[in-house]
Amino acid sequence: MRYTYNFNAGPAALPLEVIRQVQNDLIDINGIGLSILEISHRSEEYELIHYETQQLIRDLLDIPSDYEVLFFQGGASTQFAMVPMNFLTREYMASYVYSGTWSGKAIKEAEKIGEVAIVASSENEQFKRLPDLDEMNIHPGSAYVHVTSNETAAGVQYQNLPNTGNIPLICDMSSDILSRPFDVSKFGLIYAGAQKNLGPAGVTVVIVHRVLLDRIQGNIPDMMNYRIHAKSNSLYNTPPVFSVYVVNLVLKWIANNGGTRGMAERNRLKADLVYETIDRSGGFYKGLAHRDSRSIMNVTFSLLNEELERCLLHELRLNGFIGLEGHRDVGHLRASIYNSVTYNQCKVLTDFLTEFQRRYG
Ligand SMILES: *Cc1c(COP(=O)(O)O)cnc(C)c1O
Repeated sequence: MRYTYNFNAGPAALPLEVIRQVQNDLIDINGIGLSILEISHRSEEYELIHYETQQLIRDLLDIPSDYEVLFFQGGASTQFAMVPMNFLTREYMASYVYSGTWSGKAIKEAEKIGEVAIVASSENEQFKRLPDLDEMNIHPGSAYVHVTSNETAAGVQYQNLPNTGNIPLICDMSSDILSRPFDVSKFGLIYAGAQKNLGPAGVTVVIVHRVLLDRIQGNIPDMMNYRIHAKSNSLYNTPPVFSVYVVNLVLKWIANNGGTRGMAERNRLKADLVYETIDRSGGFYKGLAHRDSRSIMNVTFSLLNEELERCLLHELRLNGFIGLEGHRDVGHLRASIYNSVTYNQCKVLTDFLTEFQRRYG
């Protein structure tokens, strides 16, 4: 039996069913007499898992046929560099929305490659509110517009992203992909590290429109080139076999639990429960993000003072709650309630918070 409640921000909770399946398959996958950890990425058994995983992502997100679904290593942080390396050529500039810690890192990487314009920013509000994208002034000479759908550290999330017309919209969806339905055709490229909503660390999913692949020049290293990986269906070199296999199981779990619509419903109920507990505490708990920017994936909150926060974190740890410390850029507390976290786990947490307030409020 497990006696922990996992609210880690990433790597994060996985469905217990999936972990059990991994345990069951670990010594002998599909009766072939070998572990997933020791088969060739060129074997028929792995290819089946690889292509099925791509297809599951296509089906769950209803991805149009003119997009590629690719797997990379190096995390979302490698995508911060790959995006400008592939698309930010000298005759263009890149437009970035600066909405928090992660978009800030993406901007820093892009600035090493080419000219970057920050077209919307919430830096002067400590990223507690999302930049308004309706007033974004996109330079017509932009190679792309980069946004971060969910800022994991501050706990702010876009409910809608703008249409950027002819200029491709590129989105870091690391911490909210598959948490709700969205229209892939609005985007030129989407990337997401797996370890929040998709599976274990080690693989990053990229969904990219084929038109963008044709613009990539040949002077970048093959391993950093989206077109090279697309041509070989993400089997150009050894993919992260084990991570892809676990993502495959998580995707099947999502499909069996109502797909992205099922996830959205479940996530809404969980987020409402946690935010209501904060809002009804009469100021004992305070949400860090502005109400209209609140994330349904990462709930950030504070208490009256640091001493009380330390006391709560200590008691949470003693009672089996893991991962509630805020991101080091933000401090305070954060409950990450990704797809795999259950409503019941959120209920145990909110009951604990209410009880803590009764004792210390
Ligand atoms: C976690 C996270 C990243 C960084 O992912 P790595 O896999 O550690 O490189 C980037 N963007 C967002 C939105 C994240 O949540």
